[in-house]
Amino acid sequence: MPKEEMKRPLIRGGGGGGGGSRHLEASLSDPGAPVVGILGTGDFSRSLARRLVASGYQVVVGSRTPKRSVALFPEEAEVTSQMEAVSQADLVFVAVFPEHYSTLAGLKQALAGKTLVDVSNGVRINRDGPSHAERLADMFPESSVVKGFNTLSAWTLQMGPRDGSRQVLLCGDSSKAKGSVTQLCRSMGFVPVDMGLLSSSLEIENLPLYLFPSWRVPVLATLALFLFFYLYNFVRDVLHPYVTKGKSVFYKMPVDTVNVTLPSVALVMLALVYVPGVYAAVLQLLWGTKYNRFPDWLDRWLTRRKQLGLCSFLCAALHAIYSLCLPMRKSARYKIYADFKEGKEWDDQEVWRMELYLSVGIMALGLLSLLAVTSLPTVANSLNWREFSFIQSRLGYAALTMATLHTLLYGWDRAFHGDQYRFCLPPTFMLVLVLPLAVLLGRLALSLPCVALRLRRIRRGWEKSRQIRFTLPDEDRRNGHPLEDMSDV
Ligand code: NAP
Repeated sequence: MPKEEMKRPLIRGGGGGGGGSRHLEASLSDPGAPVVGILGTGDFSRSLARRLVASGYQVVVGSRTPKRSVALFPEEAEVTSQMEAVSQADLVFVAVFPEHYSTLAGLKQALAGKTLVDVSNGVRINRDGPSHAERLADMFPESSVVKGFNTLSAWTLQMGPRDGSRQVLLCGDSSKAKGSVTQLCRSMGFVPVDMGLLSSSLEIENLPLYLFPSWRVPVLATLALFLFFYLYNFVRDVLHPYVTKGKSVFYKMPVDTVNVTLPSVALVMLALVYVPGVYAAVLQLLWGTKYNRFPDWLDRWLTRRKQLGLCSFLCAALHAIYSLCLPMRKSARYKIYADFKEGKEWDDQEVWRMELYLSVGIMALGLLSLLAVTSLPTVANSLNWREFSFIQSRLGYAALTMATLHTLLYGWDRAFHGDQYRFCLPPTFMLVLVLPLAVLLGRLALSLPCVALRLRRIRRGWEKSRQIRFTLPDEDRRNGHPLEDMSDV
């Protein structure tokens, strides 16, 4: 956050001019208002002080060098020594980097019986613990530590809840201490979310450090598929004519090759959205119960379906844009001219094929757009479960069917032409069709009345045997416990 922004008041100073940029007109603080302490005078402390003063609290900031920092705080906040600050307040924010917590040891006595709010974030994800908040609680056993506010940036604090995330995740072992931080959080205009005991602090501390955790696998899968199909198309469409006829068509690489690669990735990704659902249904049918645990990888796959679908939508949308731009290229105009000079005749079958595959492709993109829109949380929240599953399942399968038809019509009878097997490699559309066709056939088999009825019964709790199989999680398996425990119901 730029220093100039930090120094600028949230609300311009009122008349009198004396307050200048340090006077907060909106301040409601009066001598009877609750006192909140802050240790540290950095970016976070300054934003927090401004927000607290504007919310009507008395703020006392503890610094190692109060004289140096006093000009950076609003006039309504008192900047003093660390000891002075903690002895005045019952609730103290620790806005100091965790590496320096040990330098606060001298405040132990003064902080006894008080609430400490740990706002710190780590540098890297810490999976093993202890968290900074737990370390602070160990250092100050007579104080009650609450973890929170770390998911807000200094900028969000400065701007207030109107211009940033409104939720503040809190946790702590003392319900009284947590209650007072919750109250303070509400009066600052944020929405407190109770995350339970201090043992949750590790999770809260790690939250700001994650980089799109649910997107990593779908994005990597998209990139891997793109790379594979791009190289495949390059070998067949660009390298083959060069090697066999000495014809250089390398100009196709930026647009043509990308444009045949994108729909391949889109279709396979869309099929990947529906593979785990079909596989899970088959497992339940084979097991004759829904009470067995799915393998971990299948669970994770099921939870990533939205991201897989959105990656598919992105590729399909890019394919549409690329296709619209095809006629703009010089190479396309040369081709039209060459065809004209060659006297190429109207080919009824070819014209029909093109009309059909374009129309079905547009429909597929339209349905995919609908799926993408309904996956937005605001739209999804306005739908009930039946509406949501109708759109995501029925319309999703309709989109998959349309996209598969689009590819089938594109392929037409080319699979039977010998010249399509360049370097003995089958045409790309044949490879692409394997997974979607398998998914659609699987779905069709699952909707046969006898299968669908059995699956419906299983999903409502019916079991093949009256024995429930309890499969232990991985950890128990590693500890040498038996894999399954058969218990009578
Ligand atoms: P900062 O600008 O570097 O300020 C840290 C402050 O700690 C210093 O100004 C210093 O104030 C004080 N301090 C006390 N003992 C210290 C010591 N031994 N050595 C160095 N400094 C010491 O850091 P910040 O950005 O405000 O962050 C403070 C805490 O808030 C961190 O734990 C951070 O993870 C957390 N946080 C920050 C943000 C953000 O957007 N900045 C967001 C969420 C959480 P005095 O010199 O006056 O004593």
